[in-house]
Amino acid sequence: MEGYHSPQVDVDIRLNTNEAPVGPPEAFVADYLEAVSKISWNRYPDRSARDLRKSIAALHGVSPDMVFPANGSNEVLQTLLLTFAGPGRKVLTFEPTYQLHGHIARISGAEVVEGERRPDFSIDEGVMQSLLKAHSPHVTFLCSPNNPTGTVDSRSIVHAALGSTGGIVAVDEAYGQFAPWSALDFIDEDTPLVVVRTFSKTWSMAAARLGYLVGPRWLVAELEKVVLPYHLDTAKQIAGVLAVRYRAEMDARVAELLSERTRLADGLRRLDVDVFDSGANFILFRPRTKSGREVWQGLLDKRVLIRDCSSWPRLDNCLRVTIGTRQENDIFLERLTEVLS
Ligand code: PMP
Repeated sequence: MEGYHSPQVDVDIRLNTNEAPVGPPEAFVADYLEAVSKISWNRYPDRSARDLRKSIAALHGVSPDMVFPANGSNEVLQTLLLTFAGPGRKVLTFEPTYQLHGHIARISGAEVVEGERRPDFSIDEGVMQSLLKAHSPHVTFLCSPNNPTGTVDSRSIVHAALGSTGGIVAVDEAYGQFAPWSALDFIDEDTPLVVVRTFSKTWSMAAARLGYLVGPRWLVAELEKVVLPYHLDTAKQIAGVLAVRYRAEMDARVAELLSERTRLADGLRRLDVDVFDSGANFILFRPRTKSGREVWQGLLDKRVLIRDCSSWPRLDNCLRVTIGTRQENDIFLERLTEVLS
């Protein structure tokens, strides 16, 4: 097996891992420092993270027992797959997509069925339906907006995934706040649907490792049986509770990143590259006149790091750039122009 790789290189401009370009508001950091100074370090954390669940539940207008928080959405995905995948079971993905869906499913011992996306990276409903019929997967992954392509699935794709399978449909919305709609609206007790979200991107908290899932109560109760006790430390629970108090600031940052996304996409379209539409905080593009690897290396030589997807299956020559600050985006476009010329 291959592990998960994402190079961490010392550069001036880091636009490779879809993080927020700036840290959380200063007032949040001050609140956090004060709160952690009062932690009873000799005590285990609140095992069911009640305050954190309540805060996240209020954010989405659901009840706290429909929320499962974990150490990053990666741990949410892992717990979901340990619970519902495993030997003798099948997990369906639509490639290319977030590598860890298939990776963790394989680690669990499940068989991964890889559906193919169209050349524009959207999912064909007919292809999906025939895969569901042929394999009856126990877990079907959608990723909207999809990493690394930025593609937003339509509502009808989510409905189609749910309509024809008794299995669980997991919509990974790690980039959901940047997209025009969310599958959160479809969650209820009778639908085997979960939506996975993270504090790593919009909330500027990748360092804290906090993510969560919203789903039916019965499903969250199953996850509780599988996850390690006390998996969420007290400091992280505090960070999550405090973060959601800064929702207005978060919304303002999302708006800023969306306008930068438009500006960056327009800038890219003026260059010799093909640009894929994105509903996320990153853009996938493909240089027309030079190889993706050459362009990635050229940028790195100029101390700009983006993600090299050029050798990944189905992503020939593609590169992915995270939306940064206005200044970072300008420098990226300037150096890309030099590399391409
Ligand atoms: N899902 C998707 C689609 C992602 O792109 C990422 C981060 N690269 C994650 C989940 C994991 O995020 P985290 O564990 O930081 O919450």
